Amino acid sequence: MPTEGNDVRWLFADQLGPHFLDGDDQRVLLVESRRVFARRRFHRQKAHLVLSAMRHRAAELGERCTFRQADRYRDVFDHRPRAVRGPLTVSHPTTFAARDFVQSLDRVQMLPARGYATEMDEFARWAAGRRGHQLRMEDFYRGTRRRLDLLMDGDEPLGGRWNYDAENREPPPKPKARPELTDPDQRSVLGVPGPWWPDEDEIDEQVRADLDRWEADGDVTFVGRDGPRQFPATRTEALTALRHFLDHRLRAFGRYEDAMMSGDPWMAHSLLSATINLGLLDPVEVVHAAESAYRDRPDQYSLAAVEGFVRQVIGWREYMWQLYWWFGPEYRHLNELRATKPLPKWFVELDADAVQARCLSDVLGDLRDHGWVHHIPRLMVLGNYALQRGWRPDQLTDWFHRSFVDGYDWVMLTNVVGMSQYADGGRMVTKPYAGGGAYINRMSDYCGQCPYSPTVRVGEQACPFAAGYWWFVHRHRDRFAGNHRMRQAIRGLDRLRDLEALVEQEEHRGSRGP
Ligand code: FAD
Ligand code: SF4
Repeated sequence: MPTEGNDVRWLFADQLGPHFLDGDDQRVLLVESRRVFARRRFHRQKAHLVLSAMRHRAAELGERCTFRQADRYRDVFDHRPRAVRGPLTVSHPTTFAARDFVQSLDRVQMLPARGYATEMDEFARWAAGRRGHQLRMEDFYRGTRRRLDLLMDGDEPLGGRWNYDAENREPPPKPKARPELTDPDQRSVLGVPGPWWPDEDEIDEQVRADLDRWEADGDVTFVGRDGPRQFPATRTEALTALRHFLDHRLRAFGRYEDAMMSGDPWMAHSLLSATINLGLLDPVEVVHAAESAYRDRPDQYSLAAVEGFVRQVIGWREYMWQLYWWFGPEYRHLNELRATKPLPKWFVELDADAVQARCLSDVLGDLRDHGWVHHIPRLMVLGNYALQRGWRPDQLTDWFHRSFVDGYDWVMLTNVVGMSQYADGGRMVTKPYAGGGAYINRMSDYCGQCPYSPTVRVGEQACPFAAGYWWFVHRHRDRFAGNHRMRQAIRGLDRLRDLEALVEQEEHRGSRGP
């Protein structure tokens, strides 16, 4: 359906940046659906952020925008407001369900996706050319770097290397090596200023009042604690947060990317995922800005830090987005390891106080208070525990989606079903991300403050991650017998003298809060 340039652009709640519009005078339709929040139990701060961002966008667009608050999306399309009765266009939505809905509507044209670095057709061609071989993020990432001419020196990667992963995996600095914190705002023990935080305004006040009222009416329930909004809700805030990260924190990115520190959930992470996922920043502008920062002031940054960051945004993020569509809608139902235990209440409720294990309690507490923790707590604490305990991957996917400010369907499936739970049988990763107490002990400062001991497998002090790891390998030893990357683990299992007692102990512990 040709639009003849007078189309109204329908924006979903994750398409809020300027790159989703074609001009400064284009008219816009924005729909806020209350039922989305009634159907599922979201983190309170996530509901706040999404509503705040949409309402800020509607206010910015002013008369150009038809903003409808409806129970369901369909209500708006069954009785289209006069202002949007003409041709309507929308960028490719970010979920299968929304795409199918758009395609079911009359007089709505779906445009190619925006806000990603690679066209879906291009990825499909790349992936189809690798049939029979495992798709590798590294190959895709290098191709994208070349195509965007990003951190390149002609045809070669800048600095002669594509990958600085080996340098970006250090344990947290020891307390003695940590710099003195003189400025109270300097919250990061890595010696860089803490993240930039936005100020709330009257739109946030209204959002908070609405959420309180919906909750009081009994229509909607939330998990997590309310608190000041911590993530950008406008383009201006998004650009400020990006600038702050590039100027003050990017230099410390990478080196401690895999480390976890109690009392510092943010470390040197960018905190940009929620902002990019709302569409307030385009990932391509983000990585070009990081490259410019490096090229303008090479003495301020290591290439390892900048490449490490670029790899996350244009490598991992982009790859996850493309695989969501490539693997298709059935991917969400995969459960290769036949994990059938339901998620326990303490986990669903983010009840950090119900847990003694310091790592799990700290991470759940941060999630409860902020709706965010960084990648390694997601993968190696929350996901790892679920994997070890045999919790249902579909329930875990839903939980991650609802509990995190940056959770969206497209980013959940490959990250949770594939990367974290190995529920796809290894299409994403070559071995399960299961780790014991020794890993957490090496990569964090948690174990010293924990009633359990990371090296003890059986008995009062048995670390639930250490014992849980062996319980997991034991349960799946036949499944992994042919996986050469699991061979060492299975050999280790055969050497355990206390396996019987360990299995009995962990079967007893099951899914209870450890
Ligand atoms: P940084 O550490 O600063 O990284 C920079 C950016 O890279 C991020 O902002 C993000 O946009 C991107 N990125 C890096 N890794 C990934 C990845 N695996 N998938 C997608 N983007 C990535 N990311 C989400 O955006 N939403 C989610 O709901 C989400 N759930 C996750 C669940 C699990 C089990 C795991 C293992 C990872 C998940 N991630 C998710 C990926 C990653 O953990 C977050 O993007 C990151 O922690 C966000 O913090 P940050 O912005 O400070 O990231
Ligand atoms: Fe976590 Fe085990 Fe370390 Fe305690 S001892 S913090 S449970 S890894």
